[in-house]
Amino acid sequence: MNTAIQLAYLLAATLFILGLRNLASPRTAVLGNHLAAIGMLVAVVATLLVQEVVSYGLVLAGIAVGAGLGTVLALRIEMTAMPQMVALLNGFGGAASALVAAAELLAAADGFLPSPSGIVPVAIVASVLVGSLTLTGSFVAFAKLQELIGGAPITYPLQRTTNALLAIAALGLAFGVAVSPLDLPLFWGLVAVSLVLGVLVVLPIGGADMPVVISLLNSYSGIAACATGFVLDNSALVVSGSLVGASDIILTKIMCDAMNRSLANVLFSAFGATAEEAAGVGGAEAQGNVKAYTPEDAAVIFSNARRVVIVPGYGMAVAQAQHAVRELAEELAQMGVHVQFAIHPVAGRMPGHMNVLLAEADVPYDQLVEMDEINPQFPETDVVLVLGANDVVNPAAREQKSSPIYGMPILDVDRAQHVFVIKRSMNPGFAGVQNPLFFNDNTMMIFGDAKKVVMALTEALREYNA
Ligand code: NAP
Repeated sequence: MNTAIQLAYLLAATLFILGLRNLASPRTAVLGNHLAAIGMLVAVVATLLVQEVVSYGLVLAGIAVGAGLGTVLALRIEMTAMPQMVALLNGFGGAASALVAAAELLAAADGFLPSPSGIVPVAIVASVLVGSLTLTGSFVAFAKLQELIGGAPITYPLQRTTNALLAIAALGLAFGVAVSPLDLPLFWGLVAVSLVLGVLVVLPIGGADMPVVISLLNSYSGIAACATGFVLDNSALVVSGSLVGASDIILTKIMCDAMNRSLANVLFSAFGATAEEAAGVGGAEAQGNVKAYTPEDAAVIFSNARRVVIVPGYGMAVAQAQHAVRELAEELAQMGVHVQFAIHPVAGRMPGHMNVLLAEADVPYDQLVEMDEINPQFPETDVVLVLGANDVVNPAAREQKSSPIYGMPILDVDRAQHVFVIKRSMNPGFAGVQNPLFFNDNTMMIFGDAKKVVMALTEALREYNA
């Protein structure tokens, strides 16, 4: 039986890796998701066959409650609220790992199990510390994104010093528990300090940086699961935890690189506050005249275009304009216009945000073009339609050394012949800085909600070409 279980774990690990590999491309992502889910099913069934399972009734009750809640949440969640949903799931993942590891230690303290030895006390300590921190950190991230607490960075004097001292205390307690695992006051001290640390580390980070924090905490929950795998001597948990830990730290780095910010800058710079200050000293005020167009005016220029690139951003997600924009793209294609979508790696508020929305609206994958590939093509583009995007098309990132987003790679839409920007006002985007693109001679603003404006533009095109 033991060999069969180990072989099942190997199969599960292989399916996880194949799943991740397939998740790397939109074409194969659904298959990847299914493979990983089958892998998880194999691992769960194999674990249920382990001889030490004490009560199948309790396990089934847990599965019923968890699966029931998970299904309701997944069905009801809005796409725009997906980051906070991931944050919650992360938090529960970290908590589960910490609880299982803690149960092992508490059972030993009560004399039900032998005292942990070898690498196990270190693994218990790692799981409890990282899992507890992930739980409270993820809940603060959730509360910020759900606007239960303000999204602005919460800062106070000596904040970094306090956090550094708490981190040192956590490490000291962790060392103490690893050396004498049955010293329960030390253990509860470690739990308390780790929980507080999770809250205090995330509070000073601005709401809009939460996707990066969530990805980092997701990585931590993987590390906690991996440590618990060592506690239970469960290879499936070790492998899946390592995969989560590694892939999310890579994702965190990709996000930071795409914003041209270091992880330290995301974690410690209270970015929202800094950006607001920058806006206050001239970042966000008007820098010239803007030209406001109507959808009907724009239809004339679109009708004469041969090549159109649509740049979706966070505003498309807010307005849920993905279906409307697919209809616009189809209308243009029927007129013989070559249409592509330019995808910036951090457009929106979570990795792959635009890809997911456009896939939901059945926009063909081959129309989606990555930033590096599309940028050289903008000078030959007749019309760019910027749809609720702002920072990812801000030329200040290329040209203004004083800008908070200087150095962030952007879509060079200002190099196209004509640029239409759909947004509701002159308000800045996530970074809080004004966008010189809006004041360029070749830029025309169409003010309004992205979905309504795109629908009006499609209608105007139909009428103009009738
Ligand atoms: P953005 O810079 O935040 O700008 C979004 C624009 O959409 C706003 O200027 C807003 O202007 C407009 N908007 C909002 N609701 C709208 C609606 N209903 N209809 C029309 N327009 C609407 O977005 P982005 O260009 O996509 O850039 C993403 C930003 O998020 C970057 O700074 C990136 O670094 C950051 N970020 C991304 C991730 C990620 O993983 N994707 C993670 C963390 C941070 P109005 O209010 O005037 O309408």
